[in-house]
Amino acid sequence: MPKHSPTIGLEVHAELCTKTKMFCDCPNDPDEKHPNVNVCPICLGHPGVLPAINKKAVESVIKAGFAVNGEINKEFKFDRKNYFYPDLPKGYQISQYDMPIVKGGEVDISARLNESKIVKLNRVHLEEDAARLMHEPSPDLASGEQRLAGTLIDFNRSGVPLMELVTEPDMHSVEEAVAFTKELQLILRYLGISEADLERGQMRFDANISLSEVTSLGIKVEVKNLNSFAALEGAIKYEMERQAEFLESGKEIKQETRGWDDIKKITVSQRSKEEAHDYRYFPEPDLPPLDQSGFDLNFLKLAVPELPNDKRKRFKEQFRLSDEQLNILAEDRGEADFFENAVSELEADFVRRSGLRPPKADTKATSVQLLFNYLNSDLKGLMKKQELDFSELKITPDNFADLIQMISKNEISSRVAKDLLPKMQESGVDPKTLVENEGLGQVSEEGALEETAAKVIVGNPKAVEDYKKGKGNALQFLIGKAMAELKGRGNPEVLKNLFEKQLR
Ligand code: ZN
Ligand code: MN
Repeated sequence: MPKHSPTIGLEVHAELCTKTKMFCDCPNDPDEKHPNVNVCPICLGHPGVLPAINKKAVESVIKAGFAVNGEINKEFKFDRKNYFYPDLPKGYQISQYDMPIVKGGEVDISARLNESKIVKLNRVHLEEDAARLMHEPSPDLASGEQRLAGTLIDFNRSGVPLMELVTEPDMHSVEEAVAFTKELQLILRYLGISEADLERGQMRFDANISLSEVTSLGIKVEVKNLNSFAALEGAIKYEMERQAEFLESGKEIKQETRGWDDIKKITVSQRSKEEAHDYRYFPEPDLPPLDQSGFDLNFLKLAVPELPNDKRKRFKEQFRLSDEQLNILAEDRGEADFFENAVSELEADFVRRSGLRPPKADTKATSVQLLFNYLNSDLKGLMKKQELDFSELKITPDNFADLIQMISKNEISSRVAKDLLPKMQESGVDPKTLVENEGLGQVSEEGALEETAAKVIVGNPKAVEDYKKGKGNALQFLIGKAMAELKGRGNPEVLKNLFEKQLR
């Protein structure tokens, strides 16, 4: 048993993708490149202005509450959290203190670990984002080295709705913390309430880490503003080592707030840990407390789609996929939908052709596996090359299922299938028509292949000699040559028989 065990709690901030900001009508546009255009007196913090609540943002947090099985509080309100920093023009952030929208909740992260684990949540609340600080480097005139010239402030982000989700100190390893954040990111994307793109700063983490000795509880250290999974992982690992060293040498660990240095890969002390009273929270006098009866909870609950864990479970039962395959599909809702639609097309086709009832899971398993493999390798390879996502695909699930049928019925070779995919994407035409138009069907009649086989035998005397000496891979070599000659259209089985016959 390890001497020190870590306890980790997380605070996750996610920008909501509403049309407008949290308390004003300015556009909430994360793609706006020009600084300080989506601003008004309210989100610039001018005195005397009145904020108004964005109802869509509250509804998004209620949906998140349903998705994590939390309790929607009967009443909730906004509070002022006072602190002074250049990114906060009012001198306070409108947040929620003692009456958040959602209480409790949990996220099951078992699918991402090799063991069952449910992370308990403390709360989910709503607040406003701060402005973005841009630290501008410029070359030093004397040395030519880059140094900080000054800090600019972009208020486009100021007042963007920000959801904050707080877990209980319920995780006990780096793996659990990373798995939790990844699953939460996926849930937010399924809900469509946040793009949760870390690279664009739409999701950020604060991690509370304490190492306790087996007999006593540890001191809590908070590492703020972790903006990638790698930073989260690095900060937790670093803190575990740093605190273990302190405990072993009998030094006292200070309760404090630290930051992550992404270049040196260390955490650095920033200030002693704030207590809630440091923020002098008090109810926001310009906003009324809200009551859940002002929201259509039934409607919002119904608007929660099938979530990743439910999808994994259903796909497992319906399609007999491995855990790894389930995780791959669930990671992208568009991909999971495409897969499911293509499989049901395979089934419909089976029923049309045979007049029988849909096949049972194990009889259809081979074509489902074939479909998964082509989707995961060839189709996704093409999409990556052309930088497409599933919504931009001209290849319909129906046409993709047809392609899989043609492969499994040996009407086309896998080489031809590879060539067909970009053509299907370009034209949106179904694979049968393309094969007919371009004469790409698999050639299986011996008569049509004899000439090619003979030509390959004449052209490759060394391989023929090897074959006669009994070298097994010489035959594969000859078949490969013939396939190249036939542009992938020859039936390899028939070619194999032909070579064996002609070289006997
Ligand atoms: Zn504004
Ligand atoms: Mn916050």
